[in-house]
Amino acid sequence: MQDKILDGKKVSADIKAELADEIKKLQDKRNITPGLAVALVGEDPASQVYVNMKEKTCKALGIVSHKHVLPADVSEDRLLSLIDVLNNDPEIDGILVQLPLPGHIDENRVLDRIKVEKDVDGFHPVSVGRLVLGQPGFRAATPAGIIELLKRSGVAIQGKEAVVVGRSNIVGKPVALLLLNEHATVTIAHSRTPDLGEVTRRADILVVAVGRREMVTADMVKEGAVVVDVGIHRTDDGLVGDVAFNQVQEKASAITPVPGGVGPMTIAMLMSNTVQAARSRA
Ligand code: NDP
Repeated sequence: MQDKILDGKKVSADIKAELADEIKKLQDKRNITPGLAVALVGEDPASQVYVNMKEKTCKALGIVSHKHVLPADVSEDRLLSLIDVLNNDPEIDGILVQLPLPGHIDENRVLDRIKVEKDVDGFHPVSVGRLVLGQPGFRAATPAGIIELLKRSGVAIQGKEAVVVGRSNIVGKPVALLLLNEHATVTIAHSRTPDLGEVTRRADILVVAVGRREMVTADMVKEGAVVVDVGIHRTDDGLVGDVAFNQVQEKASAITPVPGGVGPMTIAMLMSNTVQAARSRA
């Protein structure tokens, strides 16, 4: 049986140590240093925090990070030209555009422009199509991190009843597809689901990606369920998730904390995708 706390901090540290070894081998044997380019538009504080964390992790692992900061009023054409340059730069293995983008920029056009071989965020329609078809390709980092955390913590997925609350393109939908690929029986709930508790109480594995602070309470969780909390909310008492942790942990057989659960896994999987892209260059 797995530990009660699904420790994303520890599991992500294990993954990063494995990646650092692999990066060293790529450098020693093939003279390749993985490169990740990050484009940040505007000065959204949360985006700045995420980009800084990614930069720091790159540095720690031996990945070269190329940060491009553009003003909030930059034109879409200017951002697309930057992506073209990065697409053609042989030193760049992965390209990441920090979301959300300002309203005057068409997010889909920007993500479509990234070369599929450099789409380490896994948001390009071709990457998403490959996920749907169960073909190899880049998987979005947060959903991939959730599956990796479950597997490395000894949680069996095959044959289990999995419920995902939330259907966003970056978390809900892709994590549901990954759970399906792992042979779970998957239900997706969302804001139009009439009786959410009735659906969530069916879950052996409950993934919550709603963006509403501590919305999932103990009465919505089956005894012994594994609960994955994707939500991040900054409060005066620090970070909290979409799950009311204190009461739900009494019922769950395992649960991710916030912070220290899904968050650190997201960055580790982004690094893993970048190393995968560099391996393809080799
Ligand atoms: P979105 O806002 O894009 O999607 C939220 C989803 O939740 C929607 O599908 C929405 O349904 C559904 N929803 C909203 N209210 C309810 C409700 N009352 N009952 C049932 N479903 C509801 O959010 P994201 O998926 O981008 O993010 C979710 C959370 O995860 C956020 O807190 C975000 O900060 C966090 N996050 C954390 C990451 C990490 O690394 N740990 C990475 C990415 C996100 P509908 O489609 O019907 O509107």
